[in-house]
Amino acid sequence: MEAYTLATLAIRAGYDRTHEQENSEAIFPTSSFVYESAQQAADRFSGEEPGNVYSRFTNPTVRTFENKLALMEGGEACVATASGMAAILACFMGTLSAGDHIVSSASIFGTTKVLFNNYLKKFGIDVCFVPQTDYQAWSEAIQPNTKALFLETPSNPLTEVADIARLSQLASQAKALLIVDNCFCTPILQQPLKQGADIVIHSATKFLDGQGRCLGGAIVGSQSIVGEDVRGVIRTAGPTMSPFNAWVFIKGLETLAIRMEAHTLRAQLLAEWLSQHPAVERVFYPGLGSHPQYALAQRQQKGAGALLSFRVKGGRDQAWSVIDATKMLSITANLGDVKTSITHPASTTHSRVEPNEREAAGITENLIRISVGLEDVEDIKNDLVAGLNALLSPAKYPG
Ligand SMILES: *Cc1c(COP(=O)(O)O)cnc(C)c1O
Repeated sequence: MEAYTLATLAIRAGYDRTHEQENSEAIFPTSSFVYESAQQAADRFSGEEPGNVYSRFTNPTVRTFENKLALMEGGEACVATASGMAAILACFMGTLSAGDHIVSSASIFGTTKVLFNNYLKKFGIDVCFVPQTDYQAWSEAIQPNTKALFLETPSNPLTEVADIARLSQLASQAKALLIVDNCFCTPILQQPLKQGADIVIHSATKFLDGQGRCLGGAIVGSQSIVGEDVRGVIRTAGPTMSPFNAWVFIKGLETLAIRMEAHTLRAQLLAEWLSQHPAVERVFYPGLGSHPQYALAQRQQKGAGALLSFRVKGGRDQAWSVIDATKMLSITANLGDVKTSITHPASTTHSRVEPNEREAAGITENLIRISVGLEDVEDIKNDLVAGLNALLSPAKYPG
């Protein structure tokens, strides 16, 4: 199966048909499994005989999702979890101990920051944050007890692209793991393990599902680290993916390749159009030649992805007026859906960040983020144009 391309693997790999000869994957909503005999039960429990015991450990539907994603990311092992945050927690519980240190990009998902600062710290794991693309800062932040480097690339909402291969060199010199949250690109647009990352994390809730239905997550990497250390956490602590959710994600993976292509196509057109609009100050999208890491993104990614952000001329009032003038777009902080979403990061996803820190990080009051869905791009533009044009009206800008 490994000879096939990603689009085919997503559809065909990782599943053994049952004796019913079903064409679509079966769903196994069962908590436990039965044995032929007392001897077999004993052998399954001891691990002498492989096979299902209990769905906190293994479940056939969850395993199909794990098999597909492992092949698509090019990893030996994949472990599915109940959410993206459960994947991040389980990853660190499985790989770090009290006294260890993490160097993380400052431009990460807000809840991941809270997990680091409020919870991992409580258990003696220290974290420091560095600017996403300042490699000197990454290097200087590494301490003798640094065991992991962590980032998302492109970042949200400013789409800063970090060089995975370069960070992987820093990580291996420090004998630390490079962990990449690949939520925004998915393996269709970027395969971090192939660039030298050790572990890939997913929030399956986003593009892997793609239609905003279920929560889930996954960790992909080597058999020894992910297949054993991280899986041990899941089977013991229990943030397991449900078979129903796994089945939804299996169906999501089947269309992932064409969806990511279609999201990217629309996002590129929208980014180019926004760049030309006189009420827009600046657009952040890795597919634009004006993006500071355009060349790196071209090399590292197979497409620029669905997320873009832009600054309108003005401040919070102007940004909010553009958001409130939309009729179709979903005003929500969620992303990775067929429905285009629009959000004001400074007052939502990044509202807990100190205002000075937020401005310094570029999350200004006039910034709007869009996760481009699969509606017709002309309709997305039409939904934005009224609010943008209104910013140009003399009533708002006298003189
Ligand atoms: C949403 C998100 C998560 C968390 O995933 P959940 O499934 O909501 O727990 C982690 N990382 C990134 C980049 C995300 O966007």
